[in-house]
Amino acid sequence: MLERDNYRHKGLRKQLVEVLRSKKITDEAVLSAINAVPRHLFLDSSFLEFAYQDKPFPIGSGQTISQPYTVAFQTELLQVKKGMKVLEIGTGSGYQACVLAEMGAKVFSIERQRKLYIKTKAFLLEMPYVIKTFLGDGNEGLAIHAPFDRILITAAAPEIPQTLIDQLNPDGIMVIPLSENEKEQKMLRLIKNSDGSLTTQEHGFFRFVPLLENIGNDN
Ligand code: SAH
Repeated sequence: MLERDNYRHKGLRKQLVEVLRSKKITDEAVLSAINAVPRHLFLDSSFLEFAYQDKPFPIGSGQTISQPYTVAFQTELLQVKKGMKVLEIGTGSGYQACVLAEMGAKVFSIERQRKLYIKTKAFLLEMPYVIKTFLGDGNEGLAIHAPFDRILITAAAPEIPQTLIDQLNPDGIMVIPLSENEKEQKMLRLIKNSDGSLTTQEHGFFRFVPLLENIGNDN
């Protein structure tokens, strides 16, 4: 992996971190994780020049690797600490999962699309992180590994999945882009209070690919 991450890539990554700072990402742990994870390896090599622009990018199967700003913003809201158990819904390219793992989280990630799941699972084996990936419907969470300290949804959710709330620890945090209309999602940070009630904070509008429901996972 190391020889595939050269000084040019490292330099581009530093510039990306400065762009994120200028867009008001302030959490140094998040910025240093972005500075560490070689995003260009998550894109096909012919798209190298796009890897460190602050833009989303197609990764096949009609899906996208989220824009670095969105990854940084969601990760900042999640307030991840070393050793926390984090569940990610929507593995996609695996980039967000690696950012969380770089921050010291124990990452569990679910992907609905079989092709993408297989491709990313194989790719993640080459990365210096232990990330547990699962094929399935993220709306159902991962009952056997629950509860989680943090849950991050990286696709547009039509509603807050109660099953996932149930799999969150007391004082746990869920970050979810909740569909407001067909085009936009409102970024929510949900804090599960010790009595099980939720505190909801709103953090602006974003655009994600939709969270798929009941499409069968043989595609
Ligand atoms: N986190 C990803 C980007 C995610 S794009 C990254 O870092 O690259 C959203 C992903 O959610 C897509 O890969 C999509 O296939 C997946 N997805 C959509 N609906 C899902 C569901 N119900 N369960 C799990 N994954 C789902």
